[in-house]
Amino acid sequence: MKKAKNIMKKMTAGLVKSCKKLGNVHVLSRVILVIALVMVAIAAGVVLFSKPARQAVIEAVSPEHHMLVEVKSGDTLSKILGNQGFSINDIHAISANLKKDADFTTLRAGRDKFDFVRPKEGEPISKIIIENGPWNRIEIDCETRDTWQCQKIEIERDTRIAYKEGEIAKGSSFYLSAMDAGIPEGIILDVYDLLAFEMDFERDIRAGQKFYVLYEENFASEKKVDNGHVLAVSFDALRGNVQMYRYVKENGHAGYYDGNGNGAIKSLKRTPINNAKITSKFTGKRKHPVLGYTRAHKGVDFRAPTGTPIPAAGAGRVIARSFNRGHGNFVKIRHNGSFETLYAHMSKFAKGVNVGTMVRQGQIIGYSGSTGLSTGPHLHYEIIKNGVHVNPMTVKLPAIDNLDAKNKPLFMEHKKLLDEKISLLKSNPKQVVRLRDEIEQIPENKKEKK
Ligand SMILES: [Zn+2]
Repeated sequence: MKKAKNIMKKMTAGLVKSCKKLGNVHVLSRVILVIALVMVAIAAGVVLFSKPARQAVIEAVSPEHHMLVEVKSGDTLSKILGNQGFSINDIHAISANLKKDADFTTLRAGRDKFDFVRPKEGEPISKIIIENGPWNRIEIDCETRDTWQCQKIEIERDTRIAYKEGEIAKGSSFYLSAMDAGIPEGIILDVYDLLAFEMDFERDIRAGQKFYVLYEENFASEKKVDNGHVLAVSFDALRGNVQMYRYVKENGHAGYYDGNGNGAIKSLKRTPINNAKITSKFTGKRKHPVLGYTRAHKGVDFRAPTGTPIPAAGAGRVIARSFNRGHGNFVKIRHNGSFETLYAHMSKFAKGVNVGTMVRQGQIIGYSGSTGLSTGPHLHYEIIKNGVHVNPMTVKLPAIDNLDAKNKPLFMEHKKLLDEKISLLKSNPKQVVRLRDEIEQIPENKKEKK
C-alpha cells in the first residue's frame, strides 16, 4: 500500500512537470490515459492482494448467508423462529402454512434442521429451508412478508443397484461373512428376514456356502444417501440353492418369489427370532433336562437372553395367553385353518396382546425368559399342523401369495432383467447400473397455492 502511494505521488509530480513542459492538449490526453491505466492496475492489485478485498470478491459470487439450526429435544417451532427474531404474528402465520401446505406439524429432535437464509449478512431472512428427511425438504419463502409461501420439495432420487457376493468362511457366521463381502448391515438384516422362512442360520451354515445380494443404493446429487430394497438374493443352503427375487405386482404390491415365480414369503417363519442359536431341536424322544425321563421335545429351543422380544412367526389370532407348569408363560396363535404356533417360557407378555388379539407377522407378542420347566432363559417354539406337532425346521410351509396368470409372465421378464444386471455387475462391480436405464424422475410435489 505504501509503495502504491509513493508511485502515485511520483506520477502526480511527473504529470505537473510534463504539463508545464508540453502544454499540448493531444499529448496531455495521452498522458492522462496512461495515468488512468496505471491507477486501475494499482487498484486491481490492492483488491486482489488484500484479504478483506478478496472476501468481498467471494461474497459477490455467493452473497447468501446461511444459519443452520439443528432441532434439539424440547425445541418448538415458536422457540426456533423466535430465536431468529420472528414476531409472534409471523410465527403463527408460518406455523399455519407449514401445516396447510407441507403437512408439517411435529419437530423431530436430532433429525430436523433449519437453514435460515439471508440475501446478505445482516439483512432480514428471505427464506427458511427445513430439512426433514433425506428425500424431502420444505422451503418457506419470506421475501414477501405475511404470505409465507411453503413448498414441499422432493429430492430427486437416483436409484442404482449394487451386487455383492461372498462365501461362508471357515468357523464364521453368515453375518460376519456377509460383512466381509461388503454388504451393509441393514441389507444383511433384510436378508435374514427373507431367508428365515427357508433356513436356519445356526444349523444350516457350512464353510464354503456361496451367497449373493443385489440391492438398491439411493443417490442424490452423486452422493450416496441410503440403501433401498433387496432386489435378489441367493444362498447355497443345505437342502439346495435358495433364490428370491423382488417383484412389484400390477396392483403395486411388492413381494419376493423364487425363480419359478412361486411366493417365497411363507405364512410362518421357521425361526421367529432371527439369528438365535438353536439349543435343542425337535425330536420324537429325548431325555427331559428337568424331569429326567425321556419324552418327546415337541418344539425347537432358541437361545434368547431374558427380555429378548419374541415376534409372531406369522399373522393370526391369539388363542391362548396363559401359564402352565411346563410352558410357564406362553402364547398360542392360530394362523389359519391348519397352522398354530406356541411360544413358551416368556418372562412377560407384550402390552395389548390378549386372547382374541389379531397379530401381524413380526409383531412382538412377549419377551423371553425361563418361566415353567426350564433350565435357563430361552424361547421354546412349536408349530402345530392340523392338531399335530411338527418339526418347525422341516415342515412344508404354505406361501403367503403366489402369482396369478397375469403376473407370472411379467415376473419372468423382470427376473430375466435382474439376472442380466447381476451378470453385468459381476463382470464389473464398479459400473453404475440402474434397473431402468434412465434416472427415475419423481415429480415435485406441486401443491396448489390458495
Ligand atoms: Zn423346548
